[in-house]
Amino acid sequence: MMIIMKAEATEAEIQAVVDRIESVGAKAHPSRGAEVCVIGAIGDREHVARLDLEAHAGVDSVVPILKPYKLASWQLAHERSTLQFAGRKVGGDHFTMIAGPCTVETRDQVLTTARIVRDAGGAFYRGGAYKPRTSPYAFQGLGQEGLRLLAEAKAETGLPIVTELMDTRDLEPVLEVADVIQVGARNMQNYPLLTEIGRSNRPTLIKRGLTATLEELLMAAEYVLKEGNENVMLCERGIRTFETAYRFTLDLMAVPVLKELTHLPIIVDPSHAAGRRDLVGPLSLAAAAVGADGIIVEIHPEPDEAICDGPQALRADEFAAYAERVEQAAALAGKVVSAPA
Ligand code: PEP
Ligand code: MN
Repeated sequence: MMIIMKAEATEAEIQAVVDRIESVGAKAHPSRGAEVCVIGAIGDREHVARLDLEAHAGVDSVVPILKPYKLASWQLAHERSTLQFAGRKVGGDHFTMIAGPCTVETRDQVLTTARIVRDAGGAFYRGGAYKPRTSPYAFQGLGQEGLRLLAEAKAETGLPIVTELMDTRDLEPVLEVADVIQVGARNMQNYPLLTEIGRSNRPTLIKRGLTATLEELLMAAEYVLKEGNENVMLCERGIRTFETAYRFTLDLMAVPVLKELTHLPIIVDPSHAAGRRDLVGPLSLAAAAVGADGIIVEIHPEPDEAICDGPQALRADEFAAYAERVEQAAALAGKVVSAPA
């Protein structure tokens, strides 16, 4: 349920409504907009309905949240969320460039790439230490050693780190370096993982599952939000269709449609969708034009030598020119480039 307070409602009246909601075991999520405060009451609908909150001082109306996802819904927030963490702003009017290699390979590779991202004004540095690989015989990532190299790159460049967590058993070491925990497409519906990330309160980027609907993606976000973690970004990274000419099909329609459904920032990953370097530039421009809040892109100093995802990696020495073009497209779409605060 959604409790819309009157414009003149006092803080004491808002707090009294919050207390009543929580008295029946539901959770109250007040969000204070420019005009009014709206309180989301998440829990057993019958219990909340019995509270007769319409009659409460300061309450204007009580309406049901129609979608199965509540905290993620546009209906509850009614304005775009601008997330603020690690000295960056994500969402709202901001456009965020996240770049780095698919996986952490060597110290030289990680540091060289991180310097390039920093010099080109990138907002975050990405790199996987734990890699979800289709084959159990393929390189699985450097694990803790990879995290150590990411920490070194962060210390040198000041870039906040985006890195994937696949297993709750690795949460602690990942929390030591990750400014943003990436949930990979294959783990989008790993509910214990999402819940732990929610509890950790660390910002997260949730990638859309290969066959996930937008509603399923939003329900994944809800698992994190439900734990009180508000810093959730969604990522469209291509879905599986009948087409085999490219790796996945980048569903750019998801961007404007998600923006109708949710207040959360939407990031686009052109690299994994395309699987081919030559498509990454045009897809990034299209993503910016359609209103994406940012891009997460794979780059590598020597893509031909990359251990994983080389064919889709942009050459690191071409990143600055690429970023400038994409940021121009984002500016045309009304965004400001999210530079360090
Ligand atoms: C990645 O970002 O390197 C990755 C494995 O992405 P996805 O989970 O979208 O396949
Ligand atoms: Mn990859």
